[in-house]
Amino acid sequence: MLTVQKFGGSSVANSERIRAVAEIIAEAKNGGSDIVAVLSARGDMTDDLIASAVELSSSPPKRELDALLSTGELSSTALMAVQLHSMGIDCVSLSGRQAGIITDLNHGEAKIVSIQPARILRELSRGRVVLVAGFQGINENDDISTLGRGGSDTTAVALAAALGAARCEIYSDVDGIYTADPRLIPEAKRLDRIDYDDMLLLAKGGSQVLHSRAVEAAMKYKVEIRALSSFEKGGGTLVTKIGDKSSLPPCCGLTRDKAENKISIVGHGVDTSMLSRAIFELDYAGIEILSAAAMPNEICLRTEEADAIPAMRLLHKAFI
Ligand code: ASP
Ligand code: MG
Repeated sequence: MLTVQKFGGSSVANSERIRAVAEIIAEAKNGGSDIVAVLSARGDMTDDLIASAVELSSSPPKRELDALLSTGELSSTALMAVQLHSMGIDCVSLSGRQAGIITDLNHGEAKIVSIQPARILRELSRGRVVLVAGFQGINENDDISTLGRGGSDTTAVALAAALGAARCEIYSDVDGIYTADPRLIPEAKRLDRIDYDDMLLLAKGGSQVLHSRAVEAAMKYKVEIRALSSFEKGGGTLVTKIGDKSSLPPCCGLTRDKAENKISIVGHGVDTSMLSRAIFELDYAGIEILSAAAMPNEICLRTEEADAIPAMRLLHKAFI
């Protein structure tokens, strides 16, 4: 059995976190699974690298920016390899290029066009844990490309699809997908499972747990994702195809796109009548609505920025 695991930036932010993640990898490996682990750059490293480039030039060449940003993920995989070796676990760190991740020519926002998994398969057959630098690949000009912010999730899903992995686990600092961001809405509940369609709307609506392109790839290649925390044990949330949604609540969650100051409510039963009720509830509470729209399985509302969190609390209480 092959498991692809992906660990986000906060999961590998420092040596203590790298040790904790190494334990998760070791446990899965010792449990008998082959492991490909995709890593993000540590903590704020990607932001810091961008800031260093911008300090030198207001418009750094995209090719060089990609070369620079790829180093964040490279350093994570090499450090994880150092840690796993010290625990006696045979492993190898690979760049996107070494992992056979081929992208188009679009620097900074590249799409994966194919995966040539020969090297990964060879390392796995030697019994090694394979650590792959997320968020990057190589294009037909033999230049390093990056997949856009949050792109390591897509690396993991694409590898899971290409390698026919039995499991794709995406670890972050939250223990699954919630009905709302639990840091904003304390009464938010964790979902045991969520359908791809709903997850995609939440990801596009601003939920940060999974990147929308990764969800699209998972849907396309029928890869089930388990969203888990690297900070605490738990079953997490399974992102999957749910054929019969009649047993699910009509709304599965709400989210906010902070940059656009837009609140979205998502679910198979979300419709125009729910929009009317949402408008009524907010109006009754004295919250001004700047705009409102209903789409299939989604309604979106805009309020003044200061009203956004009270509005989300109220809508969560009303609908979830
Ligand atoms: N390190 C990249 C970013 O911060 C990619 C990722 O973490 O997925 O956007
Ligand atoms: Mg992320």
